[in-house]
Amino acid sequence: MSAPSDERTDLGLRARAEMAVRGVAIDPPTVTDLGSVIPLRRPGGAGPSADGHVLVDGLRTTVPIVADSPFRLRDGRLVRRDVGGVTDMGVAVDTVDRPAFYDLTTADGVPYEKIARLHGNDVLASTVVQTCVRYAEADRCRFCAIEQSLDSGATTAVKSPAQLAEVADAAVRLDGVTQMVLTTGTSNGRDRGARHLARCVRAITAAVPGLPVQVQCEPPAPDDLAAITELRDAGAAAIGIHVESLDDAVRRRWMPGKATVPLSQYRLAWDEAVRVFGRNAVSTYLIVGLGEDPDELVDGAAELIARGVYPFVVPYRPIPGTLAFDDGIPGPDPDLLADVTARVADILRATGMRGSDQAAGCAACGACSALSAAGG
Ligand code: SF4
Repeated sequence: MSAPSDERTDLGLRARAEMAVRGVAIDPPTVTDLGSVIPLRRPGGAGPSADGHVLVDGLRTTVPIVADSPFRLRDGRLVRRDVGGVTDMGVAVDTVDRPAFYDLTTADGVPYEKIARLHGNDVLASTVVQTCVRYAEADRCRFCAIEQSLDSGATTAVKSPAQLAEVADAAVRLDGVTQMVLTTGTSNGRDRGARHLARCVRAITAAVPGLPVQVQCEPPAPDDLAAITELRDAGAAAIGIHVESLDDAVRRRWMPGKATVPLSQYRLAWDEAVRVFGRNAVSTYLIVGLGEDPDELVDGAAELIARGVYPFVVPYRPIPGTLAFDDGIPGPDPDLLADVTARVADILRATGMRGSDQAAGCAACGACSALSAAGG
């Protein structure tokens, strides 16, 4: 990994938002070996993906790589190329080297790279079950590509606790990983996959004591909320229960399967998770660009914050292999993203809730959101 530059200047929130939506390109464009410029990239998969991982002004940042973006990486700097010429944006961009653990293979013969991946510069992430009960086209979240990386052979369908423990141990020893994120496709069980997550956390924390792990799953059924306590007892430090939108019409349009789980069930699960894990150890994603009214989105974020739940605001990202990408749905207006991010960051700051105070997870990492750059 290359060290973050000492040269810290502030890339404004508007520019960060625009870069998150429009992506970055390589400069000069004649460089065809992307890996030589951005060694750490993430293929499709669960959540935001199809991007490169860099440090912009020292902050972990994931950005789509888009050949015709005006933002360009040139000799460790972020520049903007428009008709008027090239402007240096005043910030350094450090790349993240391909981690050493990617070259190892588990005792049962699976490349580590297929078990877990490096996110940002020090986060280990894995989708422990790469299939989802909601992946039939009529039910699937339109922004999700969870099974695409399985089809491409980039990962395996189910990661065992032993495999994850082995990879986590190596990633900490060889590459300085400081936290881990475990997500899962949704299972048919009432626990929605939480118990497999708990077994994984138990194995990881036994192998690497002190490595904070965040788990992410759908709300367990109301009569199985004990699964949340089991995750905590297994050693998880934080939990993400991701709703993506608090607008039922948006949920039905974008997430027909998940929308069958009423918001009341999310609130029950969030409240139980806050009781068990504590305030600001529980988070959810809110996606900007699905058509939700921005004021309602900010009000919803305020309601979550009041419950003790961190709203991780991210832009909708068109990812190849998703239904929305096939429909040609573009990312949000960068001004809208910057506005919503700034307003939610203001509320977070006013209530003393910061992503960086979480022990592990997307809010702690921050790379897929501009919230951390806005002080949230
Ligand atoms: S914010 Fe979450 S999904 Fe994005 S890079 Fe960090 S850990 Fe990975």
